[in-house]
Amino acid sequence: MSTATYQLKNLNRRSVLNYIRKNKSVTKTALSAVTGLTFMAIKKIFSELENLELIRTDVLEAGGVGRKAVTYTINEHYGYTVGVHINIYRTSAAVLNLHGEILASIDLDMAGLPESQNQFISKLILMIHQIIAEAGVDIRKIIGIGVGAPGPVNAVEGIILMPPNLQLLQYLPIKQIIEERLNLPVFLQKDANAIALGEYWHSSGRDSSDLIYIDIDMGIGSGLVIGGKLHEGAAGAAGEFGHMTLDVDGPLCSCGNYGCLEAMSSGLALLRDFRDALAGQPGHPLADRRDMLNIQDLLEAAARNDVLALQLINTAACRTGAAVRNLINMLDPHLIILGGLLITGYPRYFEIVRDAARSRKIKGAQEHCILKTEQNLKAGLVGAGEIAADHFFEEVVLRGSGT
Ligand SMILES: [Zn+2]
Repeated sequence: MSTATYQLKNLNRRSVLNYIRKNKSVTKTALSAVTGLTFMAIKKIFSELENLELIRTDVLEAGGVGRKAVTYTINEHYGYTVGVHINIYRTSAAVLNLHGEILASIDLDMAGLPESQNQFISKLILMIHQIIAEAGVDIRKIIGIGVGAPGPVNAVEGIILMPPNLQLLQYLPIKQIIEERLNLPVFLQKDANAIALGEYWHSSGRDSSDLIYIDIDMGIGSGLVIGGKLHEGAAGAAGEFGHMTLDVDGPLCSCGNYGCLEAMSSGLALLRDFRDALAGQPGHPLADRRDMLNIQDLLEAAARNDVLALQLINTAACRTGAAVRNLINMLDPHLIILGGLLITGYPRYFEIVRDAARSRKIKGAQEHCILKTEQNLKAGLVGAGEIAADHFFEEVVLRGSGT
């Protein structure tokens, strides 16, 4: 078979699998209309997937006497993934089926615990064993472990590099260590990429092939899904939205540059500015606790209509909105989803960012859809599982080449 024929077969198989994964339950007619493939081509691919027991059929009564609709879905029990989502507050792990449904999950509070990388890994391995047992799944049916961790990361080598707000994990070769301990394939991505995948496969992103997830938390990051695939960039560093320069003479950023969005509008920047401003307002009710304040104190002050907190949040959110507009102008995505502590912890922040981004629209350009993350989705955890699922399905596509 020629290289071009291999590539075409892979392309067809990939489109079919992606469509079934994304839409959960599909008919051959819908699949043919969307992919442009003939019924014969679809039948051949389906027969391969059915032989692998990777898809199953459901026969539904579709109204009218005797009329039945046959729909196809991924066999969610073909195998399972483990998703691990690490952030500065907690590390969560879950067992998921191939529909991205969480079967069992567990959280580890990162405050106080653990004290060393060894302790962290031991605890994580224990957690993974515990949830696999709780889900009632045979470990041999786990197809892979996906890890989403604070960036930057080296996704190829599976090493967490220098997360500025989680120094405990600096240069942790998490892929190699967990693979050796559990004898399962491990795939690492920065957390915003994992969340973007979770949103893409399972939430508001379901109908979009291009999606940008923007995380506005103590730091600011983003994950890009372009043409249905995670966009990692040439060196795996794509999506460093927080380090877009907003003011060349602005404050020093943790990355070494000046005036990055993260240095001016993140949770850490807001907290820094709040504390600085309180130094000049000795009569303010929070002035005495200035050095002990955390981001929650700032958000609560804003919710009480504290003028200083509101001013700072408004300025930060307007700047973030302008940066979001830069990104929209550059990539023209179907959908932008905002999440992270500042978005979920203070509803007005989302509205200001969205409105500021819209107000800077290029004259005559179409309006873009900007949504808030669905809080109950657990996109980071579900997306971490999808990192492993993506690798698995790509392997299925390539494995079929010789048939
Ligand atoms: Zn920076």
